[in-house]
Amino acid sequence: MAYQIQFLNVVPMILTFLCMGGCWAKKNEIVRFDLPYAATLDNVIPVAIIGSGPAGLSAALYIARAGINGLVFAGPTPCGQLTQTTFIENWPARDKVLGADLMKSLKRQAELFGAKIVQDSVIQADFSIWPYVLTTEEGLEVKALSVIIATGATPKTLGVPGEKKFWGKGVTTCAVCDAPFFKGKHVIIVGGGDSAAEQVFELAPYVKQVTVLVRGSSMRAAQVLQDRVMSYENVAIEYNKQILGIYGDDGGVKVVEVKDVNTGIIEKKSVDGVFLAIGHIPNSQLFKKNLPLDSFGYLIMRGRTQQTLIPGVFAAGEIQDSLYRQAAVAAGEGIKAALDATSFLYELGFKDKIGKQLEKNFLETFSHEKKELLDISTLDEFMTHVMNKPGLVLVDFYKENCPGCIRMIPTLESLAHQLEGKISIVKSNTSLSRPIRYYCRDKLGLAIKSVPTIFIFKDGKFMERTNLIMSKKEMRAFVEQYL
Ligand code: NDP
Repeated sequence: MAYQIQFLNVVPMILTFLCMGGCWAKKNEIVRFDLPYAATLDNVIPVAIIGSGPAGLSAALYIARAGINGLVFAGPTPCGQLTQTTFIENWPARDKVLGADLMKSLKRQAELFGAKIVQDSVIQADFSIWPYVLTTEEGLEVKALSVIIATGATPKTLGVPGEKKFWGKGVTTCAVCDAPFFKGKHVIIVGGGDSAAEQVFELAPYVKQVTVLVRGSSMRAAQVLQDRVMSYENVAIEYNKQILGIYGDDGGVKVVEVKDVNTGIIEKKSVDGVFLAIGHIPNSQLFKKNLPLDSFGYLIMRGRTQQTLIPGVFAAGEIQDSLYRQAAVAAGEGIKAALDATSFLYELGFKDKIGKQLEKNFLETFSHEKKELLDISTLDEFMTHVMNKPGLVLVDFYKENCPGCIRMIPTLESLAHQLEGKISIVKSNTSLSRPIRYYCRDKLGLAIKSVPTIFIFKDGKFMERTNLIMSKKEMRAFVEQYL
């Protein structure tokens, strides 16, 4: 009964009464924790982890080390926001490490201990019945004895005219992905936090000029980062500047309209790229019906554990932390959430034997079949496999370490398997395929300014392009219109 008492302390606001034998009450519903019954169901996982940033993967590592099956839904940004930064210098015991490399090692470490990571996103969560029910973008329904929410946050956008229109055509939030496309150009960075500073470090070596537009009278980035920003000769910082609109033509962004908030003077600046670094919004939309959020959308937690207001549902990282928002803190919280989830399961009576019983009915669901994509880098290869190839061809322009690309490649591999014989899907690393990019820009009028960029050709004729990050279902519908 220990867990019942703990829940009573932890969830007094929504628990209206507590019943004997393992249950909790939420308004008019009673949720029963009937483990022997749950063990007879299909597709039950002991711990579902939603999100694969530092919080999600650290939780996965600890769950795996406890010998419990954990399934991580990698979500729309596999390995999280750190993949979009450059070097991390404040990860304890590491002097300097690339964000993407750090996350690769964390993922590998979790997988080494047995964590299962799937390239799918949870789109619905029902915490009114137990095991809790999660539905994914790819249409799977998974039942979870416990859930760790580690969905992090998404970069904010400005909401000014032209931002949507030029998204992927000069407007972006990912300097790590897109910096090489702006060689010798003038770009602006909007924002004055650590992320803006990080974007400077990524862009300054490539571009002719970086202008950082800070809306207030000072930057809020750590002083050490600000000092480094100032050390670049091609970087200028303008304070009290607000961006009003983004304008351009078929070739992409050309001009931004900027207002000086002190003087009210509006000027037009010629620029080729707009990099946004204006903070983040917690990814809590999915939970707003189930769990209380604060006015900024962060999950409300109870006490010093990672317990949400629902027993067996834990949260870690930026989804519930508006204060510290550091990757190392998120990792620590992921570990705490894993320990909390482990205690929760053991207090329910979870044993290794039950874990094995569940495993039999579960893991096969996730053995997705894939077809490896041909990687093309020379113009000859482009002519052979795209321009002169009969039928439908999809070309995915990607870059290593670009989070959107990392997400799209497994989706396309899976689609290549499903639609074998109907479509040919190839990929091209933009860092290695300059002749192909120049041919697309100069001969086909198809400049690539952002990754991932996907082109569809039919019988050598260009049909459509997209920069959208799509699920397998969406991508299938997108290509099927040309089949
Ligand atoms: P922050 O919230 O710290 O900074 C956002 C910046 O954008 C602020 O300068 C803010 O201005 C500005 N801003 C917000 N909205 C607008 C708008 N509509 N128009 C113009 N400017 C706007 O976000 P970050 O993404 O930089 O950082 C988030 C967290 O991640 C922080 O805790 C940071 O420390 C951490 N981080 C750590 C890194 C590292 O350690 N290497 C790297 C990157 C991030 P104002 O100041 O006026 O509010």
